[in-house]
Amino acid sequence: MGLSSPHEWLKKIPKVDELLKDKEIESLKEEIPRSIIVKAIQKILDKIRKDILSESIKENDIAYFLSKGNIISWIKKEAKMMGSPRLKRVINATGIIVHTNLGRSPLAFEAINRIIEVSKGYSNLEYDLLEGRRGLRYSHVEPILTYLTGAEAAMVVNNNAAAVFLALNTFAKGKEVIISRGELIEIGGAFRIPDVMRQAGAILKEVGTTNRTHLFDYQKAITSNTGLLLKVHTSNYRILGFTSAVETKELVSLGKRFNIHVMEDLGSGNFIDFRDYGLSYEPTVQEVLRTGVDIVTFSGDKMLGGPQAGIIVGKEELIKEIGQNPITRAVRIDKLTLAALEATLTFYLEPKEAIKHIPTLKMILMDDKRIHNKARLLYKKIDPKIKAKFHVEIKKEFSQVGGGALPLLDLPTRVIVFHPTDISTEELDLQLRQATPPIIGRIKADEFLLDMRTIRDEEIKEIPQILSKIFLSR
Ligand SMILES: *Cc1c(COP(=O)(O)O)cnc(C)c1O
Repeated sequence: MGLSSPHEWLKKIPKVDELLKDKEIESLKEEIPRSIIVKAIQKILDKIRKDILSESIKENDIAYFLSKGNIISWIKKEAKMMGSPRLKRVINATGIIVHTNLGRSPLAFEAINRIIEVSKGYSNLEYDLLEGRRGLRYSHVEPILTYLTGAEAAMVVNNNAAAVFLALNTFAKGKEVIISRGELIEIGGAFRIPDVMRQAGAILKEVGTTNRTHLFDYQKAITSNTGLLLKVHTSNYRILGFTSAVETKELVSLGKRFNIHVMEDLGSGNFIDFRDYGLSYEPTVQEVLRTGVDIVTFSGDKMLGGPQAGIIVGKEELIKEIGQNPITRAVRIDKLTLAALEATLTFYLEPKEAIKHIPTLKMILMDDKRIHNKARLLYKKIDPKIKAKFHVEIKKEFSQVGGGALPLLDLPTRVIVFHPTDISTEELDLQLRQATPPIIGRIKADEFLLDMRTIRDEEIKEIPQILSKIFLSR
C-alpha cells in the first residue's frame, strides 16, 4: 500500500538552499567541504523522491519520513561518509600477521619516511645522475637484491602474481610448462596457477599425482615444446602423510640436461632462516638460488615485511629478457613502492636490524613475555564496567603468520576474551568493526577475541577508549 497522493508529498520535500541554512548542517562545514555537503543533500533528497514515487513509504510513516529532523540526520550521516576516507587504518586484532584483507605488512617507520621524502618532490626514478640522462627504475634495488640473495640479476614489478605471469609469458608463451599436480594451487583472490598459465599463453602440463610426484614424472613429460619446469610453493595448504615432491635442485639438474629453464614461485619469500629463532623451517631465497634455479619470484609484502611488490631474481640474461617483455610496462612498480622497498631491503643487510625494525618480523618473533605484558596492560586499561559487562579475561591462544607462509605453524599468543551476554558475539564484533578506528578481532566458540600479537603498542590505549565510547555512553 503506497501513498494516496505522492505528488502532493513531493512538494513537501525541503529545498537544498533551505537545508544548507539549517544550524546542524551549517556546523558540518567545520569538518566537511561545502561541495560535499551539497552533494550529500542532493543524494538524500533524490532518494526521498524515489522512495515516495516507488510507493515504498506507507501513509502512516510519511510524516516522520519527511520530518526535518529525520532528513537532517540522514544528510549528516551521508556527508560524514562522503567526507571521510573509505580506505582507513584499522586495528588488526586477528592475530594473523600477514593478513591480505587488512593490507598485509605494516611498513617500517624508515620505509614510510622514505616514501614521504621521495614523493613530496621529484626523484631520480628513471634518471641516471652520473650520466645526466635517462636511467632505469629497476636499477635502484637491483644491487641490494643481488647482494642479499646471491642472484646474478633482479627486477621488481607490481606484485608476485605479475612476476609469475610475466616470467611465464616471457619463457613459455605457446610452450608447455611442466608442474606437479600437487602444486596446482589456488591462493586467495582467484589467483589459480592453471588460470595464470593460460592467460600468460603457456600450456599446462601437469605431472605426478596430488600427493606424490617424482623426477621421472617430469622427465617423461619433456618434449621439444617444453618451455619451463615450474615449481610453486604450496603456500596456504599442505598435503601430509604419504607424500613426495621433487626438490628444486633435482629439477635444476634435469633442466640442465635438457636445456630447459627452471623457475620457482616461492610465494612469501624470506631472507631469514627462522630456525635460528626457534621457528620451523622455510627455505630462504638465498638457499633456493644456490640450487642453480634460473628464476625465483616472491612477494614484497608477505614475510619480507615490505610494500606490495613482486620480486624476480635469477640469471642475468633471463632477467634481461623479462625486462624486454612489453607487458613489464603494464605491471611496473611505482616510486612510492620502490622507496619503501629499498628502505625495507636495507635492513636485511644486518638481520639483527631487520628483526628489530620490520614490523612483520617483529610480530612473527615476538616472545610470550612481551605479548603477555601487552595483554596485562590492555586489560588494566579497560573500564571495570566493560570488564563486568563482557566477563573479560586473558587467555592463551595461537596466532598465525598468514599470507601462505608457515601455514602449519601455531604461534603461542595471549588474547583478551569477551563473553557477551546481553548482546550476541556477532553484534559485538559488528560494533567494533564499525568503530573509529575499526577493531577487527576474531570469533571462536562464541567468544570474541583480541589477539595481542598484532595489536600495536600505540593501539593499547585506544582500544579501551573505543570500548567505553561504544558501550558506556548510552
Ligand atoms: C601469495 C602468492 C602469490 C601471489 O603474490 P602477490 O604478491 O599476492 O601477487 C603467488 N604465488 C604464491 C605461491 C603465493 O603464495
